[in-house]
Amino acid sequence: MKMNIVNPATRAIIAAVEQDDQQSLDSKYSTLKEGQKEWAAVPLQNRIDILQTYSKLLAENIESLAKTLTDEVGKPLQQSRNEINGSISRIAWLTQHAEKYLADEIMNAAAGMTELIRYEPLGVVCNISAWNYPYLVGTNVFVPALLAGNAVFYKPSEHATLTGLHIERLLKEAGVPENVFQVAIGGAATGDKLLSLPLDGYFFTGSYKTGKYIYEKVAPKMVPCQCELGGKDPLYVTNDVEDIIAVAAGTADGAFYNNGQSCCAVERIYVHEKVYEAYVDAFVKEVASWKIGNPLEDGIYIGAISRDSQLAFLEQQVADALQKGAKLLTGGKRIEGDGYFFEPTVLTNVDHSMLVMREESFGPIIGIMKVSNDEEALQLMNDTSYGLTASVYSLNRERAEDILAATDAGTGYWNCCDRVSAALPWSGRKHSGFGATLSHAGIRAFTQPKAFHLRG
Ligand code: NAD
Repeated sequence: MKMNIVNPATRAIIAAVEQDDQQSLDSKYSTLKEGQKEWAAVPLQNRIDILQTYSKLLAENIESLAKTLTDEVGKPLQQSRNEINGSISRIAWLTQHAEKYLADEIMNAAAGMTELIRYEPLGVVCNISAWNYPYLVGTNVFVPALLAGNAVFYKPSEHATLTGLHIERLLKEAGVPENVFQVAIGGAATGDKLLSLPLDGYFFTGSYKTGKYIYEKVAPKMVPCQCELGGKDPLYVTNDVEDIIAVAAGTADGAFYNNGQSCCAVERIYVHEKVYEAYVDAFVKEVASWKIGNPLEDGIYIGAISRDSQLAFLEQQVADALQKGAKLLTGGKRIEGDGYFFEPTVLTNVDHSMLVMREESFGPIIGIMKVSNDEEALQLMNDTSYGLTASVYSLNRERAEDILAATDAGTGYWNCCDRVSAALPWSGRKHSGFGATLSHAGIRAFTQPKAFHLRG
């Protein structure tokens, strides 16, 4: 059966793609099972060369790839280019460090006994992926998985299918064998079928709801399962920031980049009462300066929301907040027209009884709350079921680090937000998931350590 691909900025059907059924998924799995052992036997340097070639192909094709991405997810073209460039730099880090973290590690070499760890691949691993940054979240998984000698069954989101097919084409053009990387096409039902196959590991990026379902369903297999899920990431502006206009502009970008559809988007802002008025004023001015519209046009900062259903979800968060006493400073509703557009929305007078301060919004909407001291800010920052990132703006590093150390989140940011580094583990806590991608931990996540005790 075919699946329509819809451009969220125009509602036009831009492609119709054949979906996988049980039979085609079974046959792709058998292919991968066949290819994996041979791939694991390919010298690591050759696998590194192939992934570096893939990265070069991304760079050479960036304009057409960015256009496809914008057409299917609605993000501004420049943000699509940024994403592909981000993926290229992650691949550089992963390929440059693969040897160091995948090579045998000699732990003890005493006379007559050598003890070493070998990092063996898991086998055929499954990557079920999200649509908001398909190049980035895909790279976090399939690149280290391939480097470590695994075969990969990759399921792009149904909302980023064309991009998923480009990724497959370029990986194969770079030299990844046909029987080492396969793509599963379709939505939730296709993903669900992958959970029944005897795969050797599941690496999921997406919502808490789906992650919980997947984790429960694959548990009896007793294979590794990693979940990179959503967030309700807090940001605290203390009373000792210097340039409030710059802080407001930087943090507004952290909340609204990619229409707020980032796992680590700033979702809640707490501001010390001393700087609150000035911050809110500068924040709203910054939001008012953005151009909204056709994501292919130069200078557009707010493009289309990827999914129609998200518009009603955002409207419900706004209505709930207003009904409970919030103040709407700007935005608040969908923009009528052909595509799925929502006004960038700023709410104040918010509190934690409101959905907008509790549930992941994943859209261009933010609540800003006044606090009177660090203790109150910290208590509110930790008052969440999620734990992906947390951020503090202050001139005082020690003060910020103390607060960040006390937050229950996988990442802490001082004077920055909404950023990911290939050198650091990307990892959530609580409903934001578990396990790590990126860094040495995210390379070894695709391996199983074998202990060798070698006498002689
Ligand atoms: P989603 O959970 O709706 O879908 C993710 C993937 O799961 C898709 O490929 C989908 O087809 C598949 N899927 C859906 N139901 C399934 C089922 N029953 N069985 C198997 N597969 C199934 O998430 P989304 O809307 O694509 O992505 C947005 C979410 O992802 C947000 O919550 C965002 O914060 C999160 N996210 C997290 C990270 C991270 O690194 N922590 C990165 C990007 C996005």
